[in-house]
Amino acid sequence: MIRINKLVKTRCLIDGTGQEPLENGYILLDGEKIIETGSLNDSVNLPADVEIIDLSNYYLLPGLIDCHTHLSINPEKGNQLAQMRMPATNNILRSIPNIYKCINSGVTTMRVMGEEYYIDIDVREAIERGLIYGPRLLVSGIGLVASNGHGVAHTTTDGREEVRKLARQNLARGADLIKMFMTGGVSSEGSSLDFCGYTAKEVAVAVEEATRAGKYVAAHAHGGRGLDLYIQEGVRTLEHAAFTDEKQLEQIIEKDLWIVGTFSILFHPEGIEKNDFSSPIIRDKVLKARKKVAENFNMIIESGANLVVGTDSMHGKIAYELECLGRFGAGNIQAIQAVTKNAARACQIEDKLGTLEKGKLADFIALRENPLDDLKNMETVEHVYKGGKEVKINI
Ligand SMILES: [Zn+2]
Repeated sequence: MIRINKLVKTRCLIDGTGQEPLENGYILLDGEKIIETGSLNDSVNLPADVEIIDLSNYYLLPGLIDCHTHLSINPEKGNQLAQMRMPATNNILRSIPNIYKCINSGVTTMRVMGEEYYIDIDVREAIERGLIYGPRLLVSGIGLVASNGHGVAHTTTDGREEVRKLARQNLARGADLIKMFMTGGVSSEGSSLDFCGYTAKEVAVAVEEATRAGKYVAAHAHGGRGLDLYIQEGVRTLEHAAFTDEKQLEQIIEKDLWIVGTFSILFHPEGIEKNDFSSPIIRDKVLKARKKVAENFNMIIESGANLVVGTDSMHGKIAYELECLGRFGAGNIQAIQAVTKNAARACQIEDKLGTLEKGKLADFIALRENPLDDLKNMETVEHVYKGGKEVKINI
């Protein structure tokens, strides 16, 4: 069968590379891939028998990449770890409406940062087999947490041999990365934010196992000694990083590491605030962290460090994530690149995704309003395509 190419017509093509937007831009598809891009204002030689996808009233962007989220958690319901402890079937069922919200907001790829029972592996398979709609998932399997650390649902992992074993089990199941929890968290009462759960040797084992398999370690780290250890031992993506200091930031830049900001869970009224503020300890942590994050992320943005963002289970709130980035000082193009080109680099998928360029996969979204005028317009997503096929769900 001869495959007919598809021509996507747009009002404006914002390809994610940082180059000037193209008025009357187009992308030409062959199956799931982009084979040409340009502007219809220029004299172009297009094949005669193309199928037209008419998005000529829309601003076209690459499909968005959420660099840090979970499937089964709903922060607005409170006690996230108790949610993860629920039976596996329940967690899978909760995941489905969550990923529909993600895809409808324009997220076509997301990094899942820890689930019990390997439900992330099962959900990824269900999406790939076409049983359910969803973004492309990059998964970490079961997170590595010390017994006295933040993030304990069921599984705990202590000592170098247990770290080695769980890292290998995750990799054997098909994990794309290893997730490690080090410092305390904002959404749990038990551990302070500068708590440091693992030793340098335990971190080094996780990095060694991941690296040998061609993967990397992503680590939950807010600041203090825990963040120091991660920087020193070769953890590649630093999740949350709310309390990063100037010295740590210098090292992060020098080692070309990535900071993953997660703002909506902290600032949005439907985030931790909605339910967990009934705990005075958590309320106090959140209020302190809000103040610090606003200051620190301004410093991080000014520094030019590698910075991307994730909704951390605030499914569908990727636009809010970018609005926060804008409030902390990022320009509109810089913010958009934090969920497109740079997000793909952080996730090591830049050869396939993140920009709308020849040779890449045809994941793109159509927005009613121009996000370069106002990041709030990232909420105006009306069409979502993954691999050249429309995937927005009616819910
Ligand atoms: Zn998380």
